Amino acid sequence: MNLTSIPALDDNYIWTLNNEDGQCLIVDPGEAAPVLAALEKNRWQPVAILLTHHHHDHVGGVKELLSHFPQLTVYGPQETANKGATAVVQEGDRLTILGLEFSVIATPGHTLGHISYYSSPYLFCGDTLFSGGCGRLFEGTPQQMLSSFQKLNKLPDETLVCCAHEYTLSNLKFAAHLLPQDSDISAYYLKIKELRAKQQVTLPTKLSLERRINVFLRTQDDEIKAVIKEETPQDAEWQIFAALRQKKDHF
Ligand code: ZN
Ligand code: FE
Repeated sequence: MNLTSIPALDDNYIWTLNNEDGQCLIVDPGEAAPVLAALEKNRWQPVAILLTHHHHDHVGGVKELLSHFPQLTVYGPQETANKGATAVVQEGDRLTILGLEFSVIATPGHTLGHISYYSSPYLFCGDTLFSGGCGRLFEGTPQQMLSSFQKLNKLPDETLVCCAHEYTLSNLKFAAHLLPQDSDISAYYLKIKELRAKQQVTLPTKLSLERRINVFLRTQDDEIKAVIKEETPQDAEWQIFAALRQKKDHF
């Protein structure tokens, strides 16, 4: 299986997986043109689309892709039913695509119906878990996003996190500001600065790495609790998570 990220819009990635026969799966096509170009260039035959949530930068290309490939199955949560999804799926569903079995994980927070798809080692998690960061809370609560993070955090170390945006640099900048003494974070921040200076892609990222450098996966760490508690005397894990998200919003 071969994993590819197609850059789209301002800072989105549209992920594809293709097998040796050239059949491919497309995740969150926010626009059609770069996908059509990749399909033509690589002579891929699309078999399915996976949608994580209803935002335009994730579903904007679906209708045009369907007009070219009407046989495509478009999987997505209920909130994408009017955005082109032809097969509505939910937590616990298992889908077989390209011979891989994907499980659907409900990951609300960014939107209420947001879902992620996992087939070892691939995790397509849309705007939930970013490298070094966390999706904005547009519809859900911090509690919901924290519980989504806790679910994803149970996946194996070697999981390849395929998120939908190139936000790694700004996330690491925030993390380094928050925890200036953390050597894992500062080393990774430097590495990402170099990669982005050369316009290189920083994804996918491994979950084992994220557990060290993503402050939103470290809400039980004493260092993080200490930084947050300096300003807000809050104790529950979701409060730490909420305070982190708020700090990032205003960073
Ligand atoms: Zn979104
Ligand atoms: Fe997005």
